[in-house]
Amino acid sequence: MASLTFYGGVGEIGGNCILVEDRDARILLDFGVPFASRSRYYSPPYLSPRSINALLKLNLLPNIEGAYESDKMGRSIDAAVLTHAHMDHVGYIGFLKDSIPIYCGEAAATILNYLSEVTHPTIEFSVEGKKINRFRTGQRLKIGSVTLEPIHVDHSIPGAYGIIVYTSEGAVVYTGDLRRHGPLWRMTDDFVERVAACEPEVFICEATNMLGATVSSEEEVLNKLNTIVKESSGLIIADFSKTDVDRLRSFYTVAEKCGRTLTINLKQARLLWHLQKDPGIRLTDLGKVAVYRKRKKRYERWEQDVLNSMNCVDSEEVARRQRELILVSSFYDFEEFIDVEPEAGSCFILSASEPFNEEMEIDFERLSNWLNHLGLPHYHIHVSGHIMPTQLREVVKKVGAKKIYPIHTEHPHLFSKYVADVCEQTIPPEKGVKYSV
Ligand SMILES: [Zn+2]
Ligand SMILES: [Zn+2]
Repeated sequence: MASLTFYGGVGEIGGNCILVEDRDARILLDFGVPFASRSRYYSPPYLSPRSINALLKLNLLPNIEGAYESDKMGRSIDAAVLTHAHMDHVGYIGFLKDSIPIYCGEAAATILNYLSEVTHPTIEFSVEGKKINRFRTGQRLKIGSVTLEPIHVDHSIPGAYGIIVYTSEGAVVYTGDLRRHGPLWRMTDDFVERVAACEPEVFICEATNMLGATVSSEEEVLNKLNTIVKESSGLIIADFSKTDVDRLRSFYTVAEKCGRTLTINLKQARLLWHLQKDPGIRLTDLGKVAVYRKRKKRYERWEQDVLNSMNCVDSEEVARRQRELILVSSFYDFEEFIDVEPEAGSCFILSASEPFNEEMEIDFERLSNWLNHLGLPHYHIHVSGHIMPTQLREVVKKVGAKKIYPIHTEHPHLFSKYVADVCEQTIPPEKGVKYSV
């Protein structure tokens, strides 16, 4: 008998982890960090988890016997299949036994390896020793007696997939994270079409944007950015997720239009260097982008490689060429600009959102103190990486699944009422409870 157990993403945005069991197969779908729950106990980097034991006792890691490297018993999981490389979906794979194979999209694997290259290892995130198998859209994966089919979707990171699991009781479909307003919205339509054709029993559906959704698109973001950049006379500092390649492309387009040079940071530059080998990803021409040379006593090997291969700009040059640059910088690096002294007419554009935005928690109070000091007005220009409610209703209708489990949302009951007339049964799942398919 096929069953589902939801260990994460239940009543919260992210931390997704779903165990699918069918005959001889036990498969994990995603294995992410539950940022919201974790913030009740921890505030990295100073108050960070120090042991797997603490995470298990706090129920931040699911208690699954035979799943963890630290566990004495043999492995009880056949595979972990990851939808995309945001930390709230993949961040805890380092705890899994090395013998459990990991499956993810081509670009997601590249990003995972990149993250392990550019971040200092913590007890929470590591891919060392992991067997990572790469897939592309439509490819069939056989795990035990179960077949899985990943289909590409549009999301705010390259290499995002929804997964169809063909169980003995019918198809179970998991959306991962998806949207329909990004530049690659057709991929989400491909996914929905394929899912509808397999008449799923179960649809496990992300429902992030149930409150405070807006109607917008990446194109609208680009137009707004263009207005601000065109009208600004000083330095423009921008902050956005380093893995959001679509946003990077929007900034690049605007910089080019307005005669400025987009100056990215070392980590972003390294990611682009890795991703440009993937023919499936539309990237920016690196030759026209500069990289900011951060002040450091010693550069890592990968940083040196980036600096050797790209046009570099240091803080003195930023100070001299303020009107000619769009400088991408996290506010955590603002100390670098204390000597730059942005001239009158400069501004800061925050182009990321969701408070537990897959990769960063934004500390608004400190951010505004820095902006006050530097004299930078703050624009917030962003579009969510997640599907809007009306579009989600359409998807639910088209898919026609018998049961829907809303996850990756703080409002599963709201979602259930919102789609009540377009689906047979909606079940807000409970954490750790086993549901039959
Ligand atoms: Zn997510
Ligand atoms: Zn995501």
